Amino acid sequence: DAPVVAHFIRTIIDNDLKDGRHAAIQTRFPPEPNGYLHVGHAKSICLNFGLVQGEQAYAGACNLRFDDTNPEKESEEYVRAIMEDVRWLGFQWQGEVRFASDYFEQLYGYAVELIQKGLAYVDDLDAEQMRAYRGTLTEPGKPSPWRDRSVEENLDLFTRMRAGEFADGSRTLRLKIDMASGNINLRDPVIYRIRRLHHIRTGDAWCIYPMYDYTHCISDALEGITHSLCTLEFEDHRPLYDWVLDNISIDCHPRQYEFSRLELLYALTSKRKLNQLVNEKVVSGWDDPRMPTVSGMRRRGYSPAGIRLFAQRCGISKSENVIDYSVLEGAVRETLEAEAPRVMAVLNPLKVTLTNFEAGVTGQRSAPFHPHHPEFGEREVPIAATLYVERDDFAEVPPAGWQRLAPGMEVRLRYSYVIRCDEVVKDASGEVVELKCSIDHATLGQNPVGRKVKGVIHWLSAEHAIAAEVRLYDRLFTEPRPDAVRGDDGQYVDFMQFLNPHSLQVVEAWVEAAVQDAAPETRYQFERLGYFCTDRVEHRAGGKPVFNRTVTLKDSWSK
Ligand code: ATP
Ligand code: MG
Ligand code: MG
Repeated sequence: DAPVVAHFIRTIIDNDLKDGRHAAIQTRFPPEPNGYLHVGHAKSICLNFGLVQGEQAYAGACNLRFDDTNPEKESEEYVRAIMEDVRWLGFQWQGEVRFASDYFEQLYGYAVELIQKGLAYVDDLDAEQMRAYRGTLTEPGKPSPWRDRSVEENLDLFTRMRAGEFADGSRTLRLKIDMASGNINLRDPVIYRIRRLHHIRTGDAWCIYPMYDYTHCISDALEGITHSLCTLEFEDHRPLYDWVLDNISIDCHPRQYEFSRLELLYALTSKRKLNQLVNEKVVSGWDDPRMPTVSGMRRRGYSPAGIRLFAQRCGISKSENVIDYSVLEGAVRETLEAEAPRVMAVLNPLKVTLTNFEAGVTGQRSAPFHPHHPEFGEREVPIAATLYVERDDFAEVPPAGWQRLAPGMEVRLRYSYVIRCDEVVKDASGEVVELKCSIDHATLGQNPVGRKVKGVIHWLSAEHAIAAEVRLYDRLFTEPRPDAVRGDDGQYVDFMQFLNPHSLQVVEAWVEAAVQDAAPETRYQFERLGYFCTDRVEHRAGGKPVFNRTVTLKDSWSK
């Protein structure tokens, strides 16, 4: 991985360690299991885990904690997928996975303590009334008529809320802070609501569920978190985070620090919106290779090291973090450069007949799988009378400077001979269907005599090549910020309008037989074409290969 880049959170930690405030640090990554992780989460994972693992790690550990307080949208599938994604990215959480729901009993106990201290009350206002009472940014809120219930009454009502005596939504437990606060989060926030929902872990044990703000700070404190890192939209919630911990009997008081969210252009970084793409079957699933999810990027062929390098390049700060897709692809490309063995593949074949090929006389060479990694080994690159070359590597009327095939022109076949195009064969419609070429037999492993042949093209022997399905991916949206486009009426336009109809193209291609036994998720560079990865789901070793194009060799984004 690239060298660690300093950022303000590292500076804070350096100072905390120097001042002896902590001997080791404890972070956590706290996803809600309501969807698959996306590239924004990857940034947060690389930050939280990266502080305690890998290069320049601080002494300490990172927890994986599911924020499972909203049973409506949560599922076991998401829990499993998130654990798998974190591990795949190369990180390991400390001990067992944690769940906020493990703390439901303790959270309840602290709520009782707050009621006993006169700092929480049961409110009978419904959601709509509560909104009206809350006020606005410019107008203070009004106290609920139920705000001054006695401690005894509140304790009784809260106990009965838990016991299931009241209808969903009929009552809430609220903190008694300040209805006139300039920070709306402090205007008596709701900390418990009644919802009869089956929970993935606690089943039907509870019909009241704690709210995020109340749960998060206490969960952090119970786990001894030292630095609670979250995105900037929680900055306004920090006073509430601190208020709760200041008012309950708990020793630990983690500090919350905020950094800016990653926004990746041409992608959506919201689980809700990504879920919509899945539900409306615009993509094949959360792990569709076009999705900016961790599992989608994985299936596409991105490497964990590439994603970690990307996260590092995004940086950690409080300023806007809008990043172009080319930065992600660049990081992936850089890590695959040294990692991926190279083979030849022809995506759009044109037949070449070698008119002077002679079996047994025309020689062939073996070729290394990587020019700088002899340990990757070599394979034979067989030649025969019939070849496939890339249609794009032939021009009937070559433009100036053309160094590939054209009538009368010479080119080198990668790892093999120089050939000359002698004749162009067309079908009845005038389409070029075959090139007849001759080999210069003196050019295997040596330069031709008396002339320079600069162009080198990839190719395959037709009888030795194997057929493969290759999926070529392009950006999913035609707009850089598909969810931020406003219409004439000032309203956001539905991002579904900006789907790129050409984001997936499936081609029948030819590849070297050397890839036949590749396991799923094997990455290759197809020479001159890009990086490709055998599909994690639909490729089987020994069967017809199924490849996904991970990224082209050259940047196709910042044109
Ligand atoms: P979404 O809006 O996609 O549901 P979220 O923030 O609600 O995202 P959580 O599951 O609560 O999703 O996120 C877990 C952690 O990941 C949080 O600490 C959150 O701040 C962080 N995170 C989520 N999105 C991003 C992002 N785009 N950039 C950086 N960190 C992010
Ligand atoms: Mg969240
Ligand atoms: Mg969310």
